[in-house]
Amino acid sequence: MNKNVFRNLSYGVYVISSLDEGRCTGCIANSVMQITSSPATVALSMNHDNFTNSCIDKSGLFAVSILSEESDSSLIGRFGFQSGRNVNKFDGVAFTMKSGLPVIDDSCGYIVCRVIDRMETSTHTVFLGEVIDGDILDSAPAMTYAYYHNVIKGKSPKNAPTYIPEDTISDDSGSKWVCSICGYVYDGETPFEELPDDYTCPVCRQSKDKFIKK
Ligand code: FE
Repeated sequence: MNKNVFRNLSYGVYVISSLDEGRCTGCIANSVMQITSSPATVALSMNHDNFTNSCIDKSGLFAVSILSEESDSSLIGRFGFQSGRNVNKFDGVAFTMKSGLPVIDDSCGYIVCRVIDRMETSTHTVFLGEVIDGDILDSAPAMTYAYYHNVIKGKSPKNAPTYIPEDTISDDSGSKWVCSICGYVYDGETPFEELPDDYTCPVCRQSKDKFIKK
């Protein structure tokens, strides 16, 4: 089986938020899809290891903030590459409470759901949510998962349902600098020896010392 074929499926990039006993938290997901129109329901796939999974489980609520191509890509590093167990991810982020859940202001729309059913797989929970609120926030085009990979040059964390180990992705380019936090690959001129001193990762905003040469 060639797992790269899954890259031909279409996805978005979403901040999934929920509540940890009243504290706002969340993570990044790409696997969200509308299931029915009336009543409107959506499905969300979330790894068991994501702290947000247990928060959705306990609160019975989740919100989807739909990132756009113009959303600050550091939101992906902030919500996707650290855990809400030990970080308050919403600190310093502009958000608005919608039907009781935090929604990212720098997104093109949001959907708030109440969990009505779930299905367990070996690694992920598929939550089925009835939509209780939703609106468009911005006219910018929604960010697709392909845009994230091809334009932002972002990678998938291991918890993503679409994760593919990097060593199985064909790549015949030479050595390169790779962010050890989020997997972003520096796309400057090659070959090269050093990153600029003031360089920061465009995805997770870490400094150049977090980059390793591969
Ligand atoms: Fe990074």
